[in-house]
Amino acid sequence: MTATDTDVAVLDHWIDGAPAAGTSTRTAPVHDPALGEVTKHVRLASTADVDTAVAAARAAYADWGRASIARRQQVLFAFREQLASRRDELAAILTSEHGKVLSDAAGEVARGLEVVELACAMPHLVRGSYSLNASTDVDVHTTKEPIGVVAVISPFNFPAMVPLWFFPIAIAAGNTVVLKPSEKDPSVTNWMAEVLSECGLPPGVLNVVHGDKEAVDALLEHPDVASVSFVGSTPVARYVYETGTRHGKRVQALGGAKNHMLVLPDADLDLVADSAVSAGFGSAGERCMAISVVVAVDPVGDELVAKIRERMAGLVTGDGRRSCDMGPLITREHRDKVAGYLDVAATDGATVVVDGRDVVADGAADGFWLGPTLVDHVPTTSAVYRDEIFGPVLSVVRVASYEEGVALVNGGDFGNGTAIFTNDGGAARRFERDVEVGMVGVNVPIPVPVAWHSFGGWKSSLFGDAKAYGAQGFEFFTREKTVTTRWLDPATHAGVDLGFPQNR
Ligand code: NAD
Repeated sequence: MTATDTDVAVLDHWIDGAPAAGTSTRTAPVHDPALGEVTKHVRLASTADVDTAVAAARAAYADWGRASIARRQQVLFAFREQLASRRDELAAILTSEHGKVLSDAAGEVARGLEVVELACAMPHLVRGSYSLNASTDVDVHTTKEPIGVVAVISPFNFPAMVPLWFFPIAIAAGNTVVLKPSEKDPSVTNWMAEVLSECGLPPGVLNVVHGDKEAVDALLEHPDVASVSFVGSTPVARYVYETGTRHGKRVQALGGAKNHMLVLPDADLDLVADSAVSAGFGSAGERCMAISVVVAVDPVGDELVAKIRERMAGLVTGDGRRSCDMGPLITREHRDKVAGYLDVAATDGATVVVDGRDVVADGAADGFWLGPTLVDHVPTTSAVYRDEIFGPVLSVVRVASYEEGVALVNGGDFGNGTAIFTNDGGAARRFERDVEVGMVGVNVPIPVPVAWHSFGGWKSSLFGDAKAYGAQGFEFFTREKTVTTRWLDPATHAGVDLGFPQNR
């Protein structure tokens, strides 16, 4: 971090194991959303700054790409210990720039930690295979090798966890990384890079470049970048996928979401209401796995809405450092955009049951506040239903049957997460098969897979073939080499043969 003439600190990049100012003079403000104040600025990299980071990663790859598994594991185990013992320190930085309440920030770090632990167990996942005597006196084996310099581009809503979905696995597999975090809450990535460096990660293996579209484009087009792992909104994900693949890279681009919770009449409505409120308003609805639509199958709608409303009355919105349930939104612009959907709801004939604009927040007057909001009878033609709002707005849609509900879930552009709430095992099993969504919960509202199962949606929620982390994460960050071996034995060697080799 360096100071400017206005005495607001400027967050540097982290390149080749040290802070780096780079050449660009562009910066962006970083807010504390609960205070509504600019607390620092972050550098916005130029193409030349990205080139410097990629060059550092490429130089580091020469050694790291050949480092022993034991050496890579030692660094990751040390990082795991640091992350576990200092998670509150990281959570505090996270809350000060994202706004989510401290317990939620600590939960985010814990879910990222799971992936570090998976990366520590990497020998099983980067192990090749061996076929003895595949042909007479011929053996075949495969190895999984790193792919080189990889880019990771992450969104604002999980500034620690989403980078942790990718870079520990990439590093474990022997790659070197250029990470471009969101410019809205960038500090946690510098913290993680510095801690990894203290854990013995060589300079250049993990580089952090802050920036916006210019930095993203530079990574997408750079000839020395082998792959791009992107998480963000669907339009940008589509752009990243199309541009990155056009430049010959492997790309996994995870996009936006609109997650439905289907509630069958036999469900336990208290459990449903608790789950809908937790999954709808946790992290102020700024989660790609948030529940944004409750689909109530007749006749449970009225009773369920009453139960949800009852629980919402007990929620405290405020500064995440105090004992609140829900923090502010990320920026004033985003807060205003989300609040604007409440006007749309009224115009489109929906019923605004709880209006978050009325919230009295336990925090500074200028914080980016919008309280938990409930909108009932949302027409499926309304933008409130169709758009990813990405805020604390929970919509309720009524349907007459299971079939109508599933058709609704499958009818949208997104396919990230969904959940069914029921006590009927047969109906749940049917839903699991019927639904065209990548991650499904049965009485679980936010079915984020554990680290050894992969994370990713279908349709416009994921562009590319590979999901994040788990076995697919290791597949993405490795390439397979197949070696066929024969030790020539003069006694059996048959001499020259121009025919295509056949197995005998
Ligand atoms: P965003 O798309 O605005 O930004 C994501 C990243 O792309 C950031 O690093 C940003 O700097 C960069 N970026 C923004 N605009 C760009 C452009 N025009 N060209 C190139 N790069 C650009 O997303 P966000 O607002 O930071 O995050 C919220 C979105 O991320 C939501 O849509 C949410 O659903 C999605 N998300 C998805 C998942 C998932 O796993 N599918 C997880 C978390 C968040």
